[in-house]
Parts: sequence; C-alpha cells; structure tokens
Amino acid sequence: MLKTALIIGTGLGGLTTALRLEKLGFDVVMLEKFNRPGGRLNILQQDGFTFDMGPSFFSMTYEFSEFEKDIDVKLPFEFIELDPLYTVNISGIHRSFNIFKDIKKLSKEFEDIEPEFEKKLESFLKSAGKLFDDSYDKVVKQNFNSIHAFLYQLTKIPFGHAPKMFRSVWKELNKYFESDEVKQIFSLVAFFLGSTPYDTPAVYTLLNYTELIHNGYYNVNGGMYKIVDAIISVMKNKNITIHYNTEIVDFKEEQDKLVGFIDQNGKTWKADVYIVNSDAAWFRGKVLQRSKYNEKKLDAMKWTLAPLTIYLGVKGKIPNLQHHNYFLGNNFKEYAGKIFKNKIKLEKPYYYVNILSKLNPQSAPKGCESLYILCPVPDLRFKSDWSDQDEIVDNVIQDLSLRTGYDIKNNVILKTVYNPTIWKNMFNLYRGSGLGLAHDMKQIGAFRPKNFDEKYKSLYYVGASTVPGTGLPMVVISSKLVTQRIIKDYGLVS
Ligand SMILES: Cc1cc2nc3c(=O)[nH]c(=O)nc-3n(C[C@H](O)[C@H](O)[C@H](O)COP(=O)(O)OP(=O)(O)OC[C@H]3O[C@@H](n4cnc5c(N)ncnc54)[C@H](O)[C@@H]3O)c2cc1C
Repeated sequence: MLKTALIIGTGLGGLTTALRLEKLGFDVVMLEKFNRPGGRLNILQQDGFTFDMGPSFFSMTYEFSEFEKDIDVKLPFEFIELDPLYTVNISGIHRSFNIFKDIKKLSKEFEDIEPEFEKKLESFLKSAGKLFDDSYDKVVKQNFNSIHAFLYQLTKIPFGHAPKMFRSVWKELNKYFESDEVKQIFSLVAFFLGSTPYDTPAVYTLLNYTELIHNGYYNVNGGMYKIVDAIISVMKNKNITIHYNTEIVDFKEEQDKLVGFIDQNGKTWKADVYIVNSDAAWFRGKVLQRSKYNEKKLDAMKWTLAPLTIYLGVKGKIPNLQHHNYFLGNNFKEYAGKIFKNKIKLEKPYYYVNILSKLNPQSAPKGCESLYILCPVPDLRFKSDWSDQDEIVDNVIQDLSLRTGYDIKNNVILKTVYNPTIWKNMFNLYRGSGLGLAHDMKQIGAFRPKNFDEKYKSLYYVGASTVPGTGLPMVVISSKLVTQRIIKDYGLVS
C-alpha cells in the first residue's frame, strides 16, 4: 500500500493535489523553493499596503466548488463577483467600455459603434457556448494516455467546431463583428492566456462564453491570497508538512527507478510517489536532464508573455477606475503582432490595472489605494536586458495619470517593480514566461507535456504547463487529473 507522497512546489496545483492525496490516505510532504506557499498566486505586503502579486481575478468558480466537494471540506474564503467584469480604455477614445455580464447593459456600451451588436453577440456566444458544452467534459477534463487517444476523443466533438481549431481568435471575431474596438475587447481573452489573438486558436473563444454567460469573473474577499490562506488553514489538521526555501536541483536513480530528489543542500527526499508542481517542461529539462527538453528545444516551444509588474501605494482615491481595467493604445494590430518578439518599442506598453483597495478597503491605509499594474512583455528569449525598466515604468505611470486624470506620479508613496528576471528567479518560470507554455494546437491535450513521466512510474506532474493548461481553474482541474491517474495506476479507491 502506498503511504507517502512528495510534492515539489506549493503553487495552487501542488496545494490542491496535496489535499486530494491526503484524502486518499497519503502522508504528504511538500517542498517549496520560495519562502511562502502559493507560487504565482501570491501576495505582496508593504507599509500597510496589500497587493495581489500575480492573479487578480478568475473565472469558473465551479472548479473550486468541485474541489471542495471532492475533498469534503468547505474552504474558508469568499468569492466577490466583479460587476462590471472589467473596463477597457483605448487611446484616443475618450470613454471607457464597461464589460457587463448583463447583455442588455453591455449592448448599450457598443450600440453606437457596432450596429445590431446584441444580435451579433448572441450569435457569437451561442457558437462559443456550444463548443464549451461539446468539449469541456470530453476534452478539458480528461486524461489522455497517447496522442492517438486524444485525437480519437476529438472525433467525438461535432465536426462543425473543427474550423475553430485552425483559425485564430481574431479571425473568429471577424466573422461576427465589424468594429475594431469590439474585436479588440473580445480578443483580450487571448491575452488572459498569455498570448495574442493572432496566434491563439478560436477554440478559446469559449472563454468569452465563460466570462459573459456561464460564470463571470471573481475576486476574493480580502484579496486573492485568501485562497492560499484558506488551503493552508485546512492543511494544519492534516498529514501534510511543508518545507520552504527548499529547491530540488537533482534526482537519484537506481536500476532505472527513481529513488529520490536532491535539494540545494544535498539532502535526498524519498517517497512512494512524486508529484512535480514546478513547470512540467522546464523541470524535465533542467532537473531530469531530458534531451527532449534541453534549452534549445524549450526555446523552440511557444511560451506565454512575461510579466512586468508594478505595485504602487498611492495617496488619494483614483477616480475613473474599476477593480479590473485594461489600457490599450491605438495600434492594436501592430502591437499585438509585434510585442511577443520585442519588435515594438515599449515606450507605450499596453497594460492592465487592478485596484485591490476598491473592493477591499483594508488593503490600503485610509485615503490611499493599492494599485497593481501588469504589462505583458516579451519573455527573456526576446528581451533579456531590463536596464530600461525604470523608463518603461515611468511611462506607464505617466500614461495612467493622463488617462485617469489623477496625478499618480506625484502621489506614489511606495513603488515595487518585478521584471521578468525577478519572476523567473522567484518561481523557476522558464525565460520569465508568466503563464507557462502557450496553448496553440501543438501544445494542448496529449501534445502538452504529460502529467505522468515518460520514464519513471512513480513520477507525475501538476500545474500550468501540463494538462489541461494555465490559469487558476485549469490548475485546480490539473490536480484532479493527476490524482485520477495515481488512483488508476495504483489501483487505489477514491
Ligand atoms: C503576473 C501574473 C498574473 C496572472 N494573472 C492571472 C489571473 O488573473 N487569473 C488566473 O486565473 N491566472 C493568472 N495567472 C496564471 C496563474 O497564476 C497560474 O496559471 C497558476 O497560479 C499556476 O499555478 P501552478 O501551481 O501551476 O504553478 P506555480 O504557481 O508556478 O507554482 C509552482 C511552485 O513550484 C515552486 N518550484 C519551482 N521549481 C521548484 C523546485 N525545483 N523545487 C522546489 N520548488 C519549486 C515555485 O517556487 C512555485 O511556488 C497569472 C500569472 C502571473 C505570473
């Protein structure tokens, strides 16, 4: 009977797997290179200000509810539904577009720029919703043992959806809408996946359906890190131990069997099963030394954009901003097409702004705001030198001041900036890529790094760069998929 599990990494994928395995009767030990749990789902607290460090919203809350049901525990955190879901500002257009879930209200936002918007939107969402219904349980929530099994499963999805696999999000939007602004706004889902609408397959328009119809967007009362706090509080009464500041750098093999992992201090950690929550592609290359994942091959894979994140404690209350705001320029096609490979100057980057203090006043001192700005930028393959970081950050603050009509620059009390190198070093993110491997057709399903190891029977993977993909709900699904695999492989009873 299996007794012990070692989980390398305490991201959401690792944490949710730990609770699932503990429920099956495992003694779980977790190792984490950082000094706190959560991985990218983290928190920054300084001088009375609290910021969500990475994720600041999410969709598909039902995946968290399913997780709670699976482990038979109510997690002590509370979702806050965002309304509007988000707000988009486009340079040169002197108004904001509020993205409401209420379709009638949303239609009012666009009726002057897109004739018959409501009818077109309904038709677009009907198609995306049908794809969601036809594929979510059949593909997203399934393990595949081989490419053959994956392709066979795809044949069970009605053929009418097939073109969405081969055309881009942008081309799909072109079919329904004429206004550039509408297309830009609905194509932001591709950026949520860390990519651009020109190289993200149209199957991901199902995210437009999940945001507007099926679920919405949510934050958490007290900030996103409450999810991690809640999980850790539940773990306190369980057979789960976490060791921080412990990085796995090597492994031990005997007679072709994995017999342990070695940390930076030379200590060997042994268990009956091992689950890697570190990036599933990077770990195979860097730690397991697999030639299929050497640096050259990793560089040839498609990675998502890297984050440049700016955390500002600001004196005063900033008008004209919601919880969740996008600021785009007036050269969307050029920018989205070139940003990836650093072929456009970052003088005026596109960016996202989150104000945690809007919904959670306790996250900033009285009369202040905690502002988090995220610029998706080229990863370290394409831009390794960040000596121009201050200039870029100043431009963003200047731009935001102009566009909100509030002098942010002269009211900054606290400023912390994380560039892609910092993100890379903090959590072992390959080339600083923020969301891990991208989701083109060659990197999803059975084409994505598998959640079981090619060589060692006792080794598994969980998280954003294995199946099904990136983002908080996907990572929670990933923990379910890997647990199902362990149950099946070892004949355990769930
Ligand atoms: C800036 C930013 C904004 C984002 N915004 C959103 C959002 O709004 N909504 C959303 O849904 N998603 C968002 N994401 C994506 C989301 O954060 C990730 O998909 C998810 O958190 C990944 O979880 P994970 O468990 O796979 O990996 P991680 O969170 O990366 O956890 C892996 C853990 O393993 C540790 N580790 C790595 N290597 C080793 C090793 N060798 N030894 C020991 N420990 C190791 C790392 O330190 C880390 O703690 C965002 C990501 C970023 C970077």
